[in-house]
Amino acid sequence: MSNDADQRPPSVDRLARSLSESGLPHPILVDIARDAIAAGDADSAIARSEQFARRLLRPVINATGVLLHTNLGRAPWATTHPASSFNVELDLETGERGSRHDHAAALIARCAGAESAIIVNNCAAAVLLVLAAHGAGREVLVSRGELVEIGGGFRVPEVMEQSGARLVEVGTTNRTRLSDYTAALDAPGADVALAMHVHQSNYRITGFTEAPSISEIASLRVPLIADIGSGLLDAACPWLKDGPPAWLRDEPAAQQTLASGAELITFSGDKLLGGPQAGIIAGAANAVAECARHPLARAMRSGDLILSSLQELALTYLRRDGAAIPFWRQATLPIGSLNRRAELLSATVSGVDVTECSSVPGGGTLPGVEIPSVGLAVRGDMRSRLRETSTPIIARVVAIDGVDHTVCDLRTVEPDDDDQLAEALAMVL
Ligand SMILES: *Cc1c(COP(=O)(O)O)cnc(C)c1O
Repeated sequence: MSNDADQRPPSVDRLARSLSESGLPHPILVDIARDAIAAGDADSAIARSEQFARRLLRPVINATGVLLHTNLGRAPWATTHPASSFNVELDLETGERGSRHDHAAALIARCAGAESAIIVNNCAAAVLLVLAAHGAGREVLVSRGELVEIGGGFRVPEVMEQSGARLVEVGTTNRTRLSDYTAALDAPGADVALAMHVHQSNYRITGFTEAPSISEIASLRVPLIADIGSGLLDAACPWLKDGPPAWLRDEPAAQQTLASGAELITFSGDKLLGGPQAGIIAGAANAVAECARHPLARAMRSGDLILSSLQELALTYLRRDGAAIPFWRQATLPIGSLNRRAELLSATVSGVDVTECSSVPGGGTLPGVEIPSVGLAVRGDMRSRLRETSTPIIARVVAIDGVDHTVCDLRTVEPDDDDQLAEALAMVL
């Protein structure tokens, strides 16, 4: 670019055209060329275009051992679909307008043991919609121990405020009794619409604590809504051959929460449910219908790609085929199979050691839970170099015997990606 016949800055357009091999669209290349010239460094344009391409959304290999990694889109789930129209709101039998809640949402309701369900953009939207539809202008009782913030700015008091419902705090941070709820219900001038139970998800209060059970709160004279968060459908996990893993412990489940008397529950699609980003409102048909009729429902509804994805997931649950749900498959991989993969990989790449490590559920669920796992370790911090490979690999650094190692936890790596992982490790070593 800098020949002395031309002392003027190179033409933006000419520079942009010289970058066409990057495959990026011309208007983007024009922006890049303009920035490079403005920075007085036209030669940087190639590096800038490469950097731009690398920043685009792309599949990555999650070798962090965090099963639901919020920065990596939580649960892994297949999304490829040929271009197609869907009968989202068309009744194929009558040819009349149908309801977008008839397929995926109805099947999720079936899985959750609910009369009815609707699907919205995420769990935050589900909670906001439930509160707006059932609590706006009135009071909602929440225990002070449940006024939580969940990663990414979901704060119960703020969501409540946005919904137009008035938060009435009951009890204390560590101890709340049923009598705290009844006192608020019976307070002079009280106008309580609902009691709300929020799963603490990402933290625990231990020690001198007390909280009424779901069925006790549900026995009050106002309906109970329960934000269970993670979308575990049934505590018995009938989709898992060996039943519920020990680490699920006290995680609230949809079926049991509804059976205990909650009128509505809300949960995410991409945590323990293992699907795409979505929020589900499930429970009593009338109460769900009221949410669906609220004007906000239109602003929060999911489209055909998400709905068809969740329909497939629901059918998979109903077939009790947990092995076909990537999250559950990864979460329950036995150590033996991880060890075999690790031995094979470490034999093909020299400088790679097999190491024991711990996976975690992540995604703001099950704090403190560690699932024994097996990883590949290489000396030093190779994270940034592993991110530069064609399918970026996201790993973590762990001190082993006091020396920093980069560890790739095989539990969260799909076996189909093992070869790519081996290639990448061979390359960075
Ligand atoms: C994760 C979580 C949310 C937020 O869910 P998103 O799907 O991320 O919006 C809300 N409530 C609880 C209890 C949660 O665990």
